[in-house]
Amino acid sequence: MLAVSWGVGKPRRYPFTNAHRIVFIAGHLPLDCPSHCATGQEAQGLSGFTRPSHFDYDIVVIGGGSAGLVTSYIASAVNAKVALVEKHKMGGDCLNTGCVPSKALIRAARAAHEIRNAPRFGVTASEPMIDFAQVMGHVQQAISDIEPHDSVERYQSLGVEVYQEHATLISPWEIRVGDKTLNTRHVVLATGARPRIPPLPGIEGAPVLTSETLWSLTDLPKRLVVLGGGAIGCELSQSFARLGSQVTLVEGVANYWGARTQKSVN
Ligand SMILES: Cc1cc2nc3c(=O)[nH]c(=O)nc-3n(C[C@H](O)[C@H](O)[C@H](O)COP(=O)(O)OP(=O)(O)OC[C@H]3O[C@@H](n4cnc5c(N)ncnc54)[C@H](O)[C@@H]3O)c2cc1C
Repeated sequence: MLAVSWGVGKPRRYPFTNAHRIVFIAGHLPLDCPSHCATGQEAQGLSGFTRPSHFDYDIVVIGGGSAGLVTSYIASAVNAKVALVEKHKMGGDCLNTGCVPSKALIRAARAAHEIRNAPRFGVTASEPMIDFAQVMGHVQQAISDIEPHDSVERYQSLGVEVYQEHATLISPWEIRVGDKTLNTRHVVLATGARPRIPPLPGIEGAPVLTSETLWSLTDLPKRLVVLGGGAIGCELSQSFARLGSQVTLVEGVANYWGARTQKSVN
């Protein structure tokens, strides 16, 4: 089987066996906004919509990830009447599948790396034993420790009304939430993005993971191919390599790392 990279120019092919796992990291779709959601132009036109005579809220925020939480917090702190609608997990990507689990994974990987490098400092150590299930337990614990800060209870205590439902924007001032319609002066779309699996030849039969699904791994993959050499692809590649996987990191843009290094140095 083959794993195929993407990017500019002709696709390149890489040897690929069933023992490989593919983690597709980098691609994200734009807002999870339903097709009937008003576009900027339509919203500016406002024709065909009747402005409500009263408003239940000053702001309704759709999406309880980092962006939506911060928006709700600040709006509530300046005494706006705020509703926050989250259809899945409070904390969104950052808490559940992004910053928090990845930083916990990095910490565990660094511990392994330091043990391997201890002899440099005159400290004798043997090869670290990695219990991957326990590493993932530590990752889940990090999420659980932070969860209360992003919880429904916390935001309600800050004066934000939280709805745990799917929101649909039905007019510039109205949002359908379950069987309710919320009227609001302003709407904030903070619906985030999600990984996209590219339509690569041969990928259909491959065991593909994304940055959302890899957190349910219980066994350390022996080998994995990480597609995408941005920050997320690099940090996950390094972590899995330090924990003992054989990692191949694929980036489609020629001289990507060199170009970025130069940019950050200048
Ligand atoms: C592995 C990894 C590591 C990362 N590390 C870092 C880092 O170290 N530092 C950093 O700054 N960033 C990091 N990021 C990026 C960071 O996680 C995201 O940029 C950030 O979480 C995006 O927040 P957001 O609020 O825009 O979207 P999201 O967190 O995606 O939140 C959007 C929310 O909207 C909800 N939603 C969508 N549609 C609807 C709807 N119709 N009705 C109701 N709710 C809806 C979703 O359920 C979701 O909870 C990392 C990402 C990954 C994947």
